[in-house]
Amino acid sequence: MSDACDCTPATHGLKPYEEALEQLLDQARPVRETERLPLDQALGRVLAAPVEAAIDVPGWDNSAMDGYAVRLADLSAPGARLPVSQRIPAGAAPRPLAPGTCARIFTGAPVPEGADAVVMQEHTRRSGDEVVFEKLPGPGANIRRRGEDIRAGSTILEPGVRLQPQHLGLAASVGVPELEVHRRLKVAVLASGDELRMPGEPLAPGQIYNSNRFTLAGMLRAMGCEVVDLGQVADTFEATRAALSDAASRADVVVASGGVSVGEEDHVKPAVEALGRLDLWKVAIRPGKPLAFGHIGDTPFIGTPGNPVSLFVTFVLFGRPFLLKSMGLTRHRNRILRATAAFDWPKPDKRREFHRARLIRGADGENLVEVHPSRSSAVLSSVAWANGLVVLPENRVVRAGDPVDFMPFCELIGWGS
Ligand code: AMP
Ligand code: MG
Repeated sequence: MSDACDCTPATHGLKPYEEALEQLLDQARPVRETERLPLDQALGRVLAAPVEAAIDVPGWDNSAMDGYAVRLADLSAPGARLPVSQRIPAGAAPRPLAPGTCARIFTGAPVPEGADAVVMQEHTRRSGDEVVFEKLPGPGANIRRRGEDIRAGSTILEPGVRLQPQHLGLAASVGVPELEVHRRLKVAVLASGDELRMPGEPLAPGQIYNSNRFTLAGMLRAMGCEVVDLGQVADTFEATRAALSDAASRADVVVASGGVSVGEEDHVKPAVEALGRLDLWKVAIRPGKPLAFGHIGDTPFIGTPGNPVSLFVTFVLFGRPFLLKSMGLTRHRNRILRATAAFDWPKPDKRREFHRARLIRGADGENLVEVHPSRSSAVLSSVAWANGLVVLPENRVVRAGDPVDFMPFCELIGWGS
């Protein structure tokens, strides 16, 4: 379909998803303060400065095998024999290889000066004091060259990377004991709604449990943010204003669930406006249309709908990339896979839908996507059932067998990479 669809009555005045995301990301400022952490405390943190290697890795030519270091000129044909002139275990400093001899050598040990190949022990046999070479190697065989992995002076890690175990290992391999990382991003979380109670409390008629608090705080912690949990806020302008002001003074970003519509029980919009400024966007997506973004003083504010599924979807589509960028991550956008629909979607919406879905393996090993039957934005069990979101384009019928975009939860929840 063409862009003309955005002007049909049902989507008129709605902001396209990409535009909302770009506008939001434009406002994200990576946290400036950094700290130096020892390697074993840096897992999952965001690197703030490049890491350079001061040494070559490996530091010298070394053997890739257990075997014998030789001068190829000493081996005229298969069956040639040489006496052993030295033994070089890993960690030893060898003497130059005497001409007409070989050296017993082990994996990782330095290749002696003068040797130009290592013959693996499986291609040799001992005969008295000599070694018989049954197969002859090519020049350089089984030698790992100095600097083959890393060259001294090269940048091995760029800032903005999430430190995974392999990055810590790489830093350790060049002898770097600590890394400069961004300070953890502090995110204040609050939930608005007089109807909310905490699990463990009894429910009076009309009350529900506050599930968003756990979904939201869980997603933030899984991303590596520090959560400042401000609990629940009563549905009054004064309480909302006071809670938001407190939140902004204690955190880098404030995220609120609920109360962002424009009903008379929704106080988030006027309260943020009283403390700073706010845009209330109606984004052309389902679920989750209203998205509030603004600033309380200088502190960014993101307000998501209260419906548990809308909260989840809006948070992963908008809140997550915004926060990942604020944490200093270079790769902050959600990654999308291409897969094949295992369902029919005969009645598309005018808004783009991000539907709870599951990636499964088809009979031929292909990636198939099945969808949850409920389209309701209040059915949190559908999110627990799913392992990702399928993107259903606006105004387009999808048939089983069609290609579809899929956002796996392993990308949407947790570190990302
Ligand atoms: P609201 O966005 O405040 O109009 O809320 C929309 C719907 O989401 C209502 O049915 C609320 O009861 C529900 N809701 C709001 N906040 C939460 C929450 N923290 N946990 C679970 N449901 C909520
Ligand atoms: Mg409410």
